[in-house]
Amino acid sequence: MGKRKLGLTTKIFIGMTLGIIAGLIASRLSGGVYEFVVNGLFHVGGTIFKRAIQMLVVPLVFVSIVNGAANMGDVSKLGRVGVKTLGFYLVTTAVAIIIALVIASIVNPGLGLDMSDLVKGDPTINQKTPLSQVLIEMIPKNPIKSLSSGNMLQIIIFALLSGVTLSLLGEKTSGLLKLFRELDHFMMKIVDIVMRLAPYGVFFLIAKTFATTGADAIKPLIKYMLTVIGVLFVHAFITYSTLLKLFANLSPVKFYKKFASVMSIAFSTSSSNATIPVTIEKVEEEMGVNQTIASFTIPLGATINMDGTSIMQGVAVIFIAQVYGMTLTLSGLLTVVLTATLATIGTAGVPGVGLITLAMVLNSVGLPTEGIALILGIDRILDMIRTAVNVSGDAVCTLIVAKSEGEMNEEIFNS
Ligand code: ASP
Repeated sequence: MGKRKLGLTTKIFIGMTLGIIAGLIASRLSGGVYEFVVNGLFHVGGTIFKRAIQMLVVPLVFVSIVNGAANMGDVSKLGRVGVKTLGFYLVTTAVAIIIALVIASIVNPGLGLDMSDLVKGDPTINQKTPLSQVLIEMIPKNPIKSLSSGNMLQIIIFALLSGVTLSLLGEKTSGLLKLFRELDHFMMKIVDIVMRLAPYGVFFLIAKTFATTGADAIKPLIKYMLTVIGVLFVHAFITYSTLLKLFANLSPVKFYKKFASVMSIAFSTSSSNATIPVTIEKVEEEMGVNQTIASFTIPLGATINMDGTSIMQGVAVIFIAQVYGMTLTLSGLLTVVLTATLATIGTAGVPGVGLITLAMVLNSVGLPTEGIALILGIDRILDMIRTAVNVSGDAVCTLIVAKSEGEMNEEIFNS
């Protein structure tokens, strides 16, 4: 089994590399050939794979949380895990933005930039959900509707309640409990089957992105891009490694070796949400995290925990301020930390939303939201990298919480 998995990860990376090359070559094509290759072949191939994993998100999350909560044993533990997880998610996001603000202030990505040829027109920015509304809408009015529309927070709440109820009823509902256990095996097997398509799916998804963006779009914004990518690397490899070692005494190298294939799915789909099934399978089956923890922390993290997105927002704030010749005061910077932390909670785990919630952060310190137009052209590529960081944050938290609760099999992690 281990051998096949290793083979799959390598295949996915070959798919990724070939995808970048094919995409850059295709970006040079024109007319009907371009249409056929990019909007035909790449688009259809990539979208089929993406939909195949998206298809698993709702049933897997529901079944997995019901099972996890039903086997939690005692309800107070659920509260403790919830508080730890939320605390961890919020603190790491705030740390991510602070690192982004500090590094961007040193690198000065926007200084000396002539923005006239970068502005590509006004993006329409209309999404703003206040936190109070997020809280209210966590409670589903109609759980069937939540499932059919894929509203993650509502599904989490309803599934937790269902799982807890099953555990309270005990023997009376043992048949139902058994059914959910079998459904869980069933869903995991489907994830396994769909993942065999990953090398091809990843190839098509990445080729499409690079063909659409092209190398030319990147040049004027290279400093901004490199700053965002640099901070993403610092956070992924330094912050997370330190946390893993410090709080769970786990090897970061082992973690990244095993997690690389999940990161590549996040990278190519640009969606934390779409990656949920793969993340859950990885931390449970190959890292030894008990389902009681992972089933809850991973979908929640994919919905509210976006360290990578907050990093992009931190660097973008400094970049846009510099391009427009504005300086941020210390209290302005603190406002950015606070609003970006909240903004990422409201950022759905789907492609490109981080750029929309950036408007909220810019507004909070009086920066022009038109600034978003400057970075619009290359955001698609940064979105890929930051999504890989977003899902890593979810997994790191899951490992730390699981370890602290004694819900982790370290032998599996180290195997
Ligand atoms: N694509 C990101 C995610 O799914 C969200 C974003 O930053 O746009 O995690």
